[in-house]
Amino acid sequence: MILLHKKTGKKFYLENKDKDFNTHFGIIKKEDLNKEPGSIVKSHLGEEFIIFEDNFNDIIGYLKLGPQSVHKKDIGLLYSLVPIYSGMKIVEGGTGSGILTSYLANSVKPNGKVYSYEIRKDFYKIAKKNFEKLKLLDYIELKLKDINNGIEEKNVDLIVLDTPDPWNTLNFAYESLKIGGYLASFLPNITSVLKLLDLNEKFLLIGIYENFVRKWEYVRGKVLRPENFEIVHTEFLVLFRRI
Ligand code: SAM
Repeated sequence: MILLHKKTGKKFYLENKDKDFNTHFGIIKKEDLNKEPGSIVKSHLGEEFIIFEDNFNDIIGYLKLGPQSVHKKDIGLLYSLVPIYSGMKIVEGGTGSGILTSYLANSVKPNGKVYSYEIRKDFYKIAKKNFEKLKLLDYIELKLKDINNGIEEKNVDLIVLDTPDPWNTLNFAYESLKIGGYLASFLPNITSVLKLLDLNEKFLLIGIYENFVRKWEYVRGKVLRPENFEIVHTEFLVLFRRI
């Protein structure tokens, strides 16, 4: 699998290098696709592409999506607040397309595991295919179960919820987490944040967060400014610790 990158930033991810690749920048011959990473190849229209070996971050951008996944900037926020490392035991509520699960599994491997609960079979199947593509199935136990019916795992380091009603998971999360373990909940609106805070009786509140990221546009000698259209609000992150 490779990544074709134009110098202007546009990129294409390819799983099959055994046939010519067609883009609106022209056709790239299969012999060129099989050149060493770092090679610069040209399409039949003379457009240049750099060949890169793909990595986790590249592939994740091309996975199939079911429901809305957690935005990368919010995954970054979670990683800045909670230590996430190899060997951890993590429970997740709401696998969805498995984007967040994949980041977590990639961090806890090879000795840790992510136990991820999903109620919808169609999303469960999408996520499973995505984990296969990323070769992460050994580090994820995917459960077609409602997390609000109970969490089977004990002595858990971190529970992440991306479900609409995390307040219904609070008691199970409390029983499952280690002392000092983290509970992180992604929520789309402040009404839900307030409900979660009001219904929490046992956890220590660490904080309520929102993350803004601005990407800048650069054209040599002409432009250096924030991009015109940016995502502003995605979700809030509420973080607790088990005491
Ligand atoms: N975090 C996911 C990702 O990055 O791809 C997206 C999660 S999506 C916003 C929410 C998911 O939670 C949906 O797939 C939904 O079916 C699932 N869900 C909702 N309530 C649930 C529950 N009580 N137990 C397990 N899954 C639940």
